Amino acid sequence: RDFMSASVVDGDRDLDAGLRPSSLGDFIGQPRVREQLELVLHAARARGRTPDHILLSGPPGLGKTSLAMIIASEMGAAIRITSGPALERAGDLAAMLSNLVEGDVLFIDEIHRIARPAEEMLYLAMEDFRVDVVVGKGPGATSIPLEVAPFTLVGATTRSGALTGPLRDRFGFTAHMEFYETDELVRVLQRSAGILGIPIDADAATEVAGRSRGTPRIANRLLRRVRDFAEVRGNGHVDLAAARAALKVYDVDDLGLDRLDRAVLGALVRGFGGGPVGVSTLAVAVGEEPATVEEVCEPFLVRAGMIARTPRGRVATAGAWHHLGLQPPAGAID
Ligand code: ADP
Repeated sequence: RDFMSASVVDGDRDLDAGLRPSSLGDFIGQPRVREQLELVLHAARARGRTPDHILLSGPPGLGKTSLAMIIASEMGAAIRITSGPALERAGDLAAMLSNLVEGDVLFIDEIHRIARPAEEMLYLAMEDFRVDVVVGKGPGATSIPLEVAPFTLVGATTRSGALTGPLRDRFGFTAHMEFYETDELVRVLQRSAGILGIPIDADAATEVAGRSRGTPRIANRLLRRVRDFAEVRGNGHVDLAAARAALKVYDVDDLGLDRLDRAVLGALVRGFGGGPVGVSTLAVAVGEEPATVEEVCEPFLVRAGMIARTPRGRVATAGAWHHLGLQPPAGAID
């Protein structure tokens, strides 16, 4: 029953583990999502039922996995973790579903990347807590119905628009996660600095928070880089000067844009005269996967007011031209 092996683990996630908030009270920011979730979970507990299936939608690093774990722990339930890309064959999903115990939370990260046959199996499981397993091939093939214990599916996606209608409709509640405000990221940083034992001044924390792309995972990552700098070049204490110098070394600009963000903006402005241009063309220009540009870079560039989405493609705003030190053409949108 070790489903953790199927989970997506990258370096950052390992590092994140110790910094994850463990209860809703511990979870900073996202006041709307927290209130909505509190109601869903409270009502389910009062009824003695498993909560409705929950979809968490938003860019990477905003706390979707953390929330899934919190949902399980608030319900006193176990969590099984997998991801859309890991569920290539319906059989993988059937094995997972048939091992669930009543009340379990099944977390499927990147659920928009689930393969079609597994997705279709999921419909039935979500709705009727049952799956049909097809055994054999050709005319002799039979379908064996299997019961699934009542469970709560928590899906996470960076692209809720890529979910098929029938899948989206089977979630009782969708939480839209927003980028964090600077003051919320300051609290994330202070909490993490406390856990990691990093002495950091308030103005240094504000500086790092303001350059974290509205994203707790990035805030925590920059905190570690700033700590490295303060330990190697200073006495380990993170003050404003150390924070600024470290962020410069790591190529994080004053808006928090990283190399790829700037490459995308640069391609849009210099390569395509500010657009409009399609996202896949932009991705080719910077040598990245379209999904990365669309799901990782673009949401923040839009929120930062650098890029506008139009029906004909992406357009650079006047702010983008200025940010790159260029004069926007007449008619550039604000
Ligand atoms: P996602 O699944 O959306 O990519 P994660 O849940 O893995 O994001 O969050 C990444 C890391 O950011 C977590 O390990 C945690 O350290 C931190 N984090 C995310 N959201 C919060 C929050 N609201 N409060 C405190 N830390 C957070």
